[in-house]
Amino acid sequence: MTRIRDFQRKRVYDWERSQSWFKPFVSYLTQEQVRSVIERLDKVFKRKTKTKIFFKGGYGGSYARGSTEIHLRKKWAMNYGVILHEYAHILTKDLHGRQFVSAYCNLLNIFHPKQPSIDELCQTMYQFRVSHDCFDEWRRKHKLSRRNKPFESVPEIAIVEKPKKKRISAKQRCQMLKEEHDWLHIYHDDWIEGDTYIEVYDKTLVDEDNIECSDYWCYGWKEAKEEALKLIEEHESQ
Ligand SMILES: [Zn+2]
Repeated sequence: MTRIRDFQRKRVYDWERSQSWFKPFVSYLTQEQVRSVIERLDKVFKRKTKTKIFFKGGYGGSYARGSTEIHLRKKWAMNYGVILHEYAHILTKDLHGRQFVSAYCNLLNIFHPKQPSIDELCQTMYQFRVSHDCFDEWRRKHKLSRRNKPFESVPEIAIVEKPKKKRISAKQRCQMLKEEHDWLHIYHDDWIEGDTYIEVYDKTLVDEDNIECSDYWCYGWKEAKEEALKLIEEHESQ
């Protein structure tokens, strides 16, 4: 198998990154918006296999794999520029070669809300010495025209992912439950080394002066939390 040389990759990157339709280099689309955009392209290009989309964390690269997979970084790649770049890879087989460029330019011209003109694209590519195939031929082959409407124009403001809910430990939860319910006794003697035994009981049901505390011991904070929740349920149904 002969490997195709990716002869103008860097030139394509430099060119697109200098253009207003590619910037900003931020994620301004939600996962649903990305999915619907790609579903629409699949329909337009009558793809037999639906394109699989992978949303990935971290700062690495985004890329297309084969002709059915697109991998996008949630941090920076959820925007029309990157999606159309990757989709042009799905439709072509020459890396960043002439076919790829003509597919990419047609996609930008038809589907990008900013609709850069073919003239504008050609001129700027010329400055960056990016070569391409005939645009019209590609357009005819895929039966595309200006009847195909561009994607919805959206604010190009980064969507910040909500931080994950902080996990509350069983010990913290016990503390919170104790503060909420003054009848609830939860006590852990920090002086006892080794095993974690925690006393948990309902003060209204126990004669605190005459108890054998080991009767109310829970082993570990998880068990203590479960016992406390059980007591709360019972207390509230009284
Ligand atoms: Zn690429």
